[in-house]
Amino acid sequence: MVAEETLNGFTGFGRKNSNFQYSRSHDDAQARAAAPFDQDRVDAIDPMSRRWAWIEIDLSAIRHNVTEARRHMRPGCKLCAVVKADAYGHGAVRVARTALSSGADMLAVATVDEGVELRKDGIGADILILSEPPAAASPLLLEYQLMPSVYTAEFALAYAELADQHGMRAPFHLALNTGMNRIGVRSENVIEFLRQINFHRALDLKGTFTHFATADCPENLDFSIQVNRFLEAIDAMRTAGVDPGIVHAANSAALFRYPDVHFDMCRLGISLYGFHPCPETHSLANLKPAMRVYARITDCKTVPMSEGVSYGLNYRSPGSVKICTVPLGYGDGLNRALSGQTNFILDGQYCRQVGNICMDQCMFEVDLRTYGTRRRLDPQIGDIVTVVGSQGDAVCTITEMAYQLHTIEHELCIAFSLRLPRIYV
Ligand SMILES: *Cc1c(COP(=O)(O)O)cnc(C)c1O
Repeated sequence: MVAEETLNGFTGFGRKNSNFQYSRSHDDAQARAAAPFDQDRVDAIDPMSRRWAWIEIDLSAIRHNVTEARRHMRPGCKLCAVVKADAYGHGAVRVARTALSSGADMLAVATVDEGVELRKDGIGADILILSEPPAAASPLLLEYQLMPSVYTAEFALAYAELADQHGMRAPFHLALNTGMNRIGVRSENVIEFLRQINFHRALDLKGTFTHFATADCPENLDFSIQVNRFLEAIDAMRTAGVDPGIVHAANSAALFRYPDVHFDMCRLGISLYGFHPCPETHSLANLKPAMRVYARITDCKTVPMSEGVSYGLNYRSPGSVKICTVPLGYGDGLNRALSGQTNFILDGQYCRQVGNICMDQCMFEVDLRTYGTRRRLDPQIGDIVTVVGSQGDAVCTITEMAYQLHTIEHELCIAFSLRLPRIYV
């Protein structure tokens, strides 16, 4: 190939990494001598220069939301920052550190690997795993000091036995099922369950908890039924001479709505990231979303009237518009079902996303007509577009997208985080 010869053997970028690949006709030393770029410099090119789409995480918003939660809690009540699923897509390590330095007492994750990641980064706070891992993971729990939730005797005894063999304790939190029917020992069976396991000297009950199914629903009887069952179980434990340890039940919704169920600790998840768990909390708490999504325009052109745009050509140009492209698609969390249903912000003005959202790119329309007091926009390749966030009075929110998609913000935050690079501000 001509290109191969004229570029000293450079044959383009490798598929699996960003190292240059050299033609086989040159030996390695010769190829290195001819390398036009310094490897370290090439690798140091920042993520936003590699691809014009990214997520910004505002750590001051995380700090604000922790403070706001604390304001609703009595002094002495512990706050557990729930950083599962990579902190709902916000980045577990950075969020955990920020939460701990702004008033959280401990952390909760969903899986053993999520706990290990935090420990490997040097985080020393207590970490609770919100489910019961496979017994085969017990060495990891003990090595990395991760507290499992427990609700089967088989797991409890295997975990305790391993700890005992190494002269260690086996700390855990007891999960009670008070009505959600996801995990946990049925609350009326708690004493029977404890009898099955408490002969084991290594087991160390550090806490007892339940999870509400309807804390984010309009006031309901099911919520009080869960509260009553939980209180009865805790009472029964104390009567039987068992110290339940840290008693906890409240998620974000219960934290803001039901101070009576704060007990010894609240578990703050979605509100840590600035989203309201339900309409009822809007009047109770002031929360700031931490995630923003941006892209730069990669293509910009006029499209003649009635020509279509994107797969299926479902959208037809009215002629008086520019069609701009951003390198962001459903592979980056911009759900395809939002096609034609969402706005972006350019230069403080809303622009309608048009045509089907593709896997890696999508298009939006810039109206070139001026009407009223509206400024005429002049989009250029490289201009920054706000996909989630605000500019002046214009606001695009994950909450609005979640509403359109009949889902919750949690899912969209996680989807945005899977491929887009993240920067912290
Ligand atoms: C995810 C989770 C939470 C956090 O709930 P939010 O509604 O996001 O605050 C709390 N407790 C348990 C057991 C969970 O699984």
